[in-house]
Amino acid sequence: MRNKEFIEQQEKKAAKIFRQIDETALFNQEKVLDAFKICRVEARHMLGSSGYGYDDAGKAALNAVFAQVFKTESAIVSPQIASGTHAIALSLYGVLRPKDTLLSVTGTPYDTLNETINGQGTGSLRDFQIGFKEIALTNGKFDKPKIFRTLEKDDTVKAVYIQRSRGYSWRPALSTGQIRQIIADIRKIRPGVCVMVDNCYGEFCSLEEPAEAGADIVIGSLIKNPGGGLAPCGGYIAGKSKYVDLIGYRLTAPGIGIETGSYVPGYRAFFQGLFMAPHITAQALKGSVLAGLCMEALGFETSPDTKKMPLDIIRAVKFNDESRLLAFCKSIQSNSPVDSFAAPEPWAMPGYSDKVVMAAGAFVQGSSIELSCDAPIRPPYIAYMQGGLTYGHVKIALDNVISSLQNSAG
Ligand SMILES: *Cc1c(COP(=O)(O)O)cnc(C)c1O
Repeated sequence: MRNKEFIEQQEKKAAKIFRQIDETALFNQEKVLDAFKICRVEARHMLGSSGYGYDDAGKAALNAVFAQVFKTESAIVSPQIASGTHAIALSLYGVLRPKDTLLSVTGTPYDTLNETINGQGTGSLRDFQIGFKEIALTNGKFDKPKIFRTLEKDDTVKAVYIQRSRGYSWRPALSTGQIRQIIADIRKIRPGVCVMVDNCYGEFCSLEEPAEAGADIVIGSLIKNPGGGLAPCGGYIAGKSKYVDLIGYRLTAPGIGIETGSYVPGYRAFFQGLFMAPHITAQALKGSVLAGLCMEALGFETSPDTKKMPLDIIRAVKFNDESRLLAFCKSIQSNSPVDSFAAPEPWAMPGYSDKVVMAAGAFVQGSSIELSCDAPIRPPYIAYMQGGLTYGHVKIALDNVISSLQNSAG
């Protein structure tokens, strides 16, 4: 390592947070192990099924373990869910009906959801006369007066949407404490409203998950934290049975739900990935803190605060300059185990409004629990780096990133 001394200096500053990350991982490891025991996971549950997938014991056990981990009545965990966006879209279509309104209390949802909500002629929520309102966070906090006013005035609001992690924005992830408080306040005004949380990137970063803080539905992707780097695809939706059943009817067909759906290769990677997830998430969290400290020492602004325990696995780095942003992403790519020789180029990805550059030299395509980095090409040119199956990988990649930035600064 060429920048060994520099990196180790930064690492020393992280000692306290690293201990906190280890404690969180230990707590969550026990939570996950307990779930496997309570659900009596057996060797035969690893096996697959075919056709309709009736009596698929593996599928049922996997759903049960996720429900147990996320402390919900039930869960859908499915390789048939194509992505996080798909899992969120399914949940919205499952719960909302024409003339209902969805209220986002964390501002504009993640880029890929824009088409799902506002698309025209594509079967979007708007096409089905489902309304949408958003209330931006102010300085990373809920705009309570505006949220309360909207809930009091607009009785078409049937679902409230909370995005736990930052997504593509310069704000820290929400804590489950903040989520608990806002949900309690919302329930005082509208006890029956359905509260959904986009949990992407937040899983296992804290001692609690959003349903413990009162959320009705919690949604995420299996190629992020809860797949532990092993799940090859899929998403999960965990929550109250009355909602999860409705969402299951969207996943397959009304009246059929999750009774059908098979998966020939078997569920081992999903079970094992979930079991690994607390540890893998901790590796990514440590990598994120180290990246933050290194980039700050080099003079870049990063988020979240490197002095605090991070609440999601994302490290945002502000470059204020397109070419340095691209140099950063290229360097991450060239230090990936897969496709290290490829040069990432900005492209118009499905679902995104700006061009996006993505460094993802991953074993699972697009997996962002693996070390990866993406950035919408728009000022102030922020890279969102996340993941890392091992802390060592992130550390080695950072060493090379630092060298390449120093070279590009010439
Ligand atoms: C990744 C992500 C999504 C969407 O997941 P995809 O798998 O990329 O479709 C939604 N919300 C947040 C906050 C995310 O990080």
